[in-house]
Amino acid sequence: MGNSFDLDSAIRKVPDFPKKGILFYDITSILAEPRAFRYCIDRMIELYADARIDAVAAIESRGFVFASPFADRLGIPLILIRKKGKLPGETISRKYQLEYGEAEIEVHGADVPKGKRVLVVDDLIATGGTLRAATELVVAAGAEVAGIFGVVGLPFLNYRSMLGSIPITTLIEYHGE
Ligand code: AMP
Repeated sequence: MGNSFDLDSAIRKVPDFPKKGILFYDITSILAEPRAFRYCIDRMIELYADARIDAVAAIESRGFVFASPFADRLGIPLILIRKKGKLPGETISRKYQLEYGEAEIEVHGADVPKGKRVLVVDDLIATGGTLRAATELVVAAGAEVAGIFGVVGLPFLNYRSMLGSIPITTLIEYHGE
């Protein structure tokens, strides 16, 4: 299928969700269109073919959807980064700032392969705050962050400055509303 698929047409845009002034880029419409979903996973496989990825860490919950088939196709471990209170084992956690208030995510430290190269995956990169906390968790657990992947990127929200020198890849970028 290569690069020819029109991914933009598969992404539902919902104005004023979850609140006024936000344009929400909804990936459920990608999942509902098998060609679009397969295109995303095929592109991920192509993009990271030579990147020596040892494991993939996915952010709850839409990150799970894209990271799971990727991990299965490559035959590499899948690590779930979850909201606080969901993981039953011993966890490492990180608090981070949201626009209003604070959030906390965590990971089973034992699931992160020590010294290995981990790709961190979410559906969409906005400010990059969530991904930054996720990369800090991966590092705190003893692995190396090989890169960050999001299906959608909103670079006008400055995620690159939030995420430092980590290589970031997205399949489609939107530049404001
Ligand atoms: P951030 O920490 O600001 O990068 O926010 C990332 C998380 O919020 C991702 O998991 C996204 O799913 C979600 N998100 C933020 N902004 C949007 C948006 N405009 N459309 C869809 N999802 C969004």
